[in-house]
Amino acid sequence: MFDRILIANRGEIACRVIRTARRMGVATVAVYSDADAGALHVELADEAVRIGPAAAAESYLSADAIIEAACATGAEAIHPGYGFLSENPGFVDAVSAAGLVFIGPSAKAIRAMGLKDRAKALMVEAGVPVVPGYHGADQDDALLAEEAARIGYPVLIKAVAGGGGKGMRRVDRVDDFPDALQGARAEAAAAFGNADVLIEKYILSPRHIEVQVFGDGTRAVHLYERDCSLQRRHQKVIEEAPAPGMTEEVRAAMGAAAVRAAEAIGYSGAGTVEFIADGAGDLRADGFWFMEMNTRLQVEHPVTEAITGLDLVEWQLRVAAGQALPWTQEEIPLSGHAVEARIYAEDAENGFLPVTGTLSHVDFPGFARADSGVRAGDAISPFYDPIIAKLIVHGPDRDSAIAGLRKALGATRLAGSVTNLGFLHRLLGAEEFREGRVDTGLIERESAALTLAPTPSEETLALATVAALGLAQGAGDGFALWSPLRWTQSLEHAGETVERQVECIAGGFRITGGPDPVELTGVVPGEPLWRYTVAGRRRSAVLALAADRVTITQGGAPLIFLRSDPLARVAGQGAGGDAILAPMPGLVCRVLSTPGKEVREGDLLMVLEAMKMEHSLRAPRDGVVATLPVAEGAQVQSGDTLLTLEPDDD
Ligand code: ADP
Ligand code: ADP
Ligand code: MG
Repeated sequence: MFDRILIANRGEIACRVIRTARRMGVATVAVYSDADAGALHVELADEAVRIGPAAAAESYLSADAIIEAACATGAEAIHPGYGFLSENPGFVDAVSAAGLVFIGPSAKAIRAMGLKDRAKALMVEAGVPVVPGYHGADQDDALLAEEAARIGYPVLIKAVAGGGGKGMRRVDRVDDFPDALQGARAEAAAAFGNADVLIEKYILSPRHIEVQVFGDGTRAVHLYERDCSLQRRHQKVIEEAPAPGMTEEVRAAMGAAAVRAAEAIGYSGAGTVEFIADGAGDLRADGFWFMEMNTRLQVEHPVTEAITGLDLVEWQLRVAAGQALPWTQEEIPLSGHAVEARIYAEDAENGFLPVTGTLSHVDFPGFARADSGVRAGDAISPFYDPIIAKLIVHGPDRDSAIAGLRKALGATRLAGSVTNLGFLHRLLGAEEFREGRVDTGLIERESAALTLAPTPSEETLALATVAALGLAQGAGDGFALWSPLRWTQSLEHAGETVERQVECIAGGFRITGGPDPVELTGVVPGEPLWRYTVAGRRRSAVLALAADRVTITQGGAPLIFLRSDPLARVAGQGAGGDAILAPMPGLVCRVLSTPGKEVREGDLLMVLEAMKMEHSLRAPRDGVVATLPVAEGAQVQSGDTLLTLEPDDD
């Protein structure tokens, strides 16, 4: 076994790899960018090396700096995690050339699966079923349109170099094909530097079921399947193992196909073969098709670890160090059911816009596995993937695993940023999901209910009002006698503004303005736990106070109350102007307006993606859209005009 390895990643996955290495007695070297100098993975590792500035292209994607760090610290092997350089065959070659071991498959295997068109051709040869479609080299517009017609609508246009759901367009009608093709190509060129596409039959009621494989270069086994059908914009949200409704017959067929795929390329290490399955009825042995192979550890690997009891990172290290896999297929255990939720810093109730912020409080319940890369005091960096944590719960059966995960989400305390906790909580409670009727369209179909912000109780509103006014915090020094006896505070929650009045009563406060007055007494503000008495009951809540907001978590999803003037938050755009200019270079990923449309100040007009982050561009004033020179998928430079408003009359 290695004495020392370097982890060429950050965040939760770097921390997760370090934990296993430590348990195995392997020393760890972390690498970090300037944005991560104080990050958790740096703290957990035995030593850490700075590799460059915040931008990933100059740090976590800098193969030279990483290999140099490994050589300088005496690391013998490099674990790439996922994302970044994990599926870059050039990096694997460079690692080997430096006399180091890459903890993962060979460059050849990565190349074989790197482009979706070539991978599909290879799978056809290996006898693995693939989605019917066109994956030729000829990229002529007319030919692609003809192929789409031959395949039959609906079709899916995919970037051959794609990943993370980018460069993908579903097309339902022949008339929409040319625009969708342009959009997919533009996105693919921007994201992957390769505009080539393939066309696939769009499978109706699709289920995403993937098989975890493990190879040692000689032979491969599978570690059963994961169902990752709960997706939003082709990105996984909830993953589980095993797949609901899976039968022994289909499992054997899918597992055998995945092992054939892995063995066809002499696979070594952990990999995932992704299939799309027809979810219209029961799963069938002839109703699933190969989509792609991810030649790395997957984000959702913990659910497989939970049901098999195996540590996949441990086996990645063992295989990379030259050990053969010890198990036959029959020896791999499968026990119970596991579900994972991805907790993100994003505003699900507000169009899923990514948010930043400093996490003032981070606490996960002990009964769940929490894979996280942050702790209290850490900022959500705008530079990288906004994942905060993955929460995994294992139970004897599917119902208990889901119930446990829901409980764990409710008991998770995250303050200081907006998160998708409430959305995840509602999603796990959705009837279709609970009944195991999953497909990739579920979230979209249910999105209205899933993104509806919960209504705060009068008690919570009262607490938010007292906190926003700073009354309880000052209670210790006693109120100055000249203070008014009555205060008014307006708070905005889920787009609605409410106003409450507060007056002092013996031992506390009386809050009015709602349907019934609320009396809070014995208020003890804490960091972050506040205690108070209401209607004779002693209660508690987690509070986070920031300049513009109060976040309250009480058992379920966090509630956010904005206390600033709502119009002030629209500023920062150069309010009042006629044009919206790109604040940075990026990709126009959503356009929510059309010329001639009336808009109100603060309306969301467009979403620009830069550095894996989405930035919303809002109307600087009321007006009418005059011109809209960019379309979805356009790559823009800083300062480009994205939209103009008709000149103001007055
Ligand atoms: P997986 O395919 O393992 O389920 P996702 O689909 O969520 O993971 O990941 C989407 C894409 O983004 C993948 O290609 C993954 O490699 C990449 N990715 C995920 N997390 C990160 C990260 N922290 N940094 C860079 N790339 C990432
Ligand atoms: P990526 O590399 O971006 O992960 P995939 O080929 O794995 O691309 O597809 C991502 C997602 O798109 C899948 O998980 C599935 O939800 C959906 N998808 C892919 N292919 C099809 C298809 N032929 N029909 C329906 N949905 C599909
Ligand atoms: Mg995929």
